[in-house]
Amino acid sequence: MPLTPFHLGIAWPIWIRARDKFHFVCLSFGAAVPDLEILWLAPFVSEPGHARGLLHSFYGALTVDVVITLMVAYLLVPPIGRWLRKRARNGGEKWHIFAGVDITRAPRDPAWAVLSALIGTVSHVTLDLFTHEFNPIFYPYHLDKDINWLLFPDDLSLSLIVFYIPLGIILFYYLLKYWTKPGPDKA
Ligand SMILES: [Zn+2]
Repeated sequence: MPLTPFHLGIAWPIWIRARDKFHFVCLSFGAAVPDLEILWLAPFVSEPGHARGLLHSFYGALTVDVVITLMVAYLLVPPIGRWLRKRARNGGEKWHIFAGVDITRAPRDPAWAVLSALIGTVSHVTLDLFTHEFNPIFYPYHLDKDINWLLFPDDLSLSLIVFYIPLGIILFYYLLKYWTKPGPDKA
């Protein structure tokens, strides 16, 4: 769970390339949504790494994860954005701007919204295969085996940091460069 934000290090570089088409919240929340289940599964498992189930499976990523993400992007974020904008005194605050885009707006094109969500959810489940021992990608089947693509099968920490250090750098670079600021010029 504390590692969830690192998944944005994959989502944001994809989003920024076609930010007039991809939807920011769909891609970002999609890249984080599987980890929601850790919150309610954690009390029921003996090992922390096993608090993952349907939302971390490949068909979960193609179905439930996308539905949750679209609900957040269409129903939750836009009203919160409107409410906060109304309360912003002088209207000059730019907290809702990322790379020049108002990220609280609902998606305009449902097809791009679904595609953005799918890229996010599938990227999460795929990255987890490289950084976790236990991956319930075929949930509820094959839960007795550790399925993973760890680069260093004998060293979980090393397998993890080779991905998370670069992703952390990308994440902070994007936050510093683009949050409340304009985006890069179009090529
Ligand atoms: Zn995860």
